[in-house]
Amino acid sequence: MARCRALLQLGATAAALWSYSVLPLLMVTAAPTPECCALLAQAFPGDVSPRGTDVWTFENEDFWSATEIRNPSCVFLPDSTEKVAQAVGLFVANECRFSIKGGGHSAIPQAANIDDGVLMPMKLLNTTEVDLEAGSIRAGMGLLMRDIYQALDPHNLTAMIGRYEKVGMGLTVGAGISYFFNREGFAVDNVLNYEVVLANGSIVNANQTSHPDLFRALKGGNNNFGVVTHATLRTVETEGAVYGGVVYYPESSIPQVTDQIYDYHTRQAVEDTLTHVLPQYGYNGTSNESIAFCPVIYNRAVDELPEIMRGWVDTPYTQSTLKKRPYADLAFELHDGFPDRQVQEQRVFTVYADADLYRDVWAAYHSWLQQWQHIPGLYGLHVVMPITQNSLVASYSKSSNVLGLNDNLTNNQTLGVLYFGLTMDSMDDTAEILPAHAEFVQSMIDLAKSRNLWHPYIMLTYSGWDQPAIASYGPENVAFLYEVQAAYDPTHVFQRLVPGGQKLPEPGSW
Ligand SMILES: Cc1cc2nc3c(=O)[nH]c(=O)nc-3n(C[C@H](O)[C@H](O)[C@H](O)COP(=O)(O)OP(=O)(O)OC[C@H]3O[C@@H](n4cnc5c(N)ncnc54)[C@H](O)[C@@H]3O)c2cc1C
Repeated sequence: MARCRALLQLGATAAALWSYSVLPLLMVTAAPTPECCALLAQAFPGDVSPRGTDVWTFENEDFWSATEIRNPSCVFLPDSTEKVAQAVGLFVANECRFSIKGGGHSAIPQAANIDDGVLMPMKLLNTTEVDLEAGSIRAGMGLLMRDIYQALDPHNLTAMIGRYEKVGMGLTVGAGISYFFNREGFAVDNVLNYEVVLANGSIVNANQTSHPDLFRALKGGNNNFGVVTHATLRTVETEGAVYGGVVYYPESSIPQVTDQIYDYHTRQAVEDTLTHVLPQYGYNGTSNESIAFCPVIYNRAVDELPEIMRGWVDTPYTQSTLKKRPYADLAFELHDGFPDRQVQEQRVFTVYADADLYRDVWAAYHSWLQQWQHIPGLYGLHVVMPITQNSLVASYSKSSNVLGLNDNLTNNQTLGVLYFGLTMDSMDDTAEILPAHAEFVQSMIDLAKSRNLWHPYIMLTYSGWDQPAIASYGPENVAFLYEVQAAYDPTHVFQRLVPGGQKLPEPGSW
């Protein structure tokens, strides 16, 4: 049997990624088993693609960020929960390292791909079953957001999932902000059931009554407890369409947009929970220009924005795509402009909403970004997303995630999740800019702390590779996650053999 390592053929691109990156090279803690791919191919003929094949190349490059293009030993494409279960059994018996890939939209290197291991995309687990009576949709974990919107739109229903069409189901184990976030809370709290393959190869359903501890742990626990194969998501009724689109503002309008953002966080999103805005500032290094471009949404089939949102169109803008349309259509439009395979880096932290802080942080980021114009293809993105008290009440009234935000349930203060994203053309530039970016974001955290506005929560789905997202949930939640790990994965298979992405912190390491 050919040893799969013998197939190693490093392409120039992959080699460049490794030599120049300052991003993490994850250490092998399990005994490497070079026979894994051969054993898999024997067990699942037709489902395994060795390194260098067309399927391998496609799957290895099918990621939003070039930081995720790695060098897996082979690609395994299971098309049933049973195959996932058998494969996990094989991985554990042979100490095979593997990755679990949803839609491939994490920018964390090896979050969903792997060097020298098995890349397991979930894409063939792609069925949808709409249950009109129960008000839910059972969705394969290989689906993209567009598939779910397209399945639900014809029924005048929608689900609390990501807003961009190509994003995958990974957010159902991370956090998840949807168009209905202000009314319905996090995506994780709108999951009614997870079908999970555990470390021992068994298949369980985790919900309020069956394995409730695992159910809770998955609501923020990422890939640390098992391979989720299907999730049943709560649906809500729509009016058959949504009013929304993107409004683009010139640099001269940015001060007014910043005021709008604060007003949205503390008034619009609070007083009318059908409102939804995703405020974004963008800096283009090539042109040295900044704009704001904001998806602005009202979750009703109306023909114009309600009075409370008028400020978004009263602020001078250059272009607006606002119109009444299906949710799928909106999700497709929003994804335009976020192409795959550019180099992406993202970092995030949380604050209490504050107009001065929002203004100062963008001003500081803008001047910081201007120092890096020489980097080809540089684009800086700053997003300011609210978590209102109501969205937390909605979340925690449905279930009990592990995100550690329940402290904020009773204090009527909106939180702001501040996102800092960099795009560039080449991995060659990461060694220069990424450490400085981490330092810059840390200086903004320090600024928020100095004004007593910092909140410890780090949203996992937008976190940087070295940001301690799970530790940020707080000691009680982390202790609970260790208990669940001890019960469901006592030999730490999902730490040792699935090394990528946000992992449970090592005990005593934080
Ligand atoms: C353009 C863009 C738009 C976005 N829009 C939104 C948005 O509207 N709302 C929002 O909340 N977030 C959004 N995000 C962030 C997004 O939620 C995260 O990137 C999320 O992790 C993506 O999930 P994925 O399946 O695409 O990613 P992947 O990179 O495939 O997976 C992310 C993590 O989840 C784990 N995982 C995936 N599937 C499984 C599974 N079946 N079982 C166990 N673990 C699994 C992976 O191992 C990996 O560690 C957006 C990101 C981008 C780049």
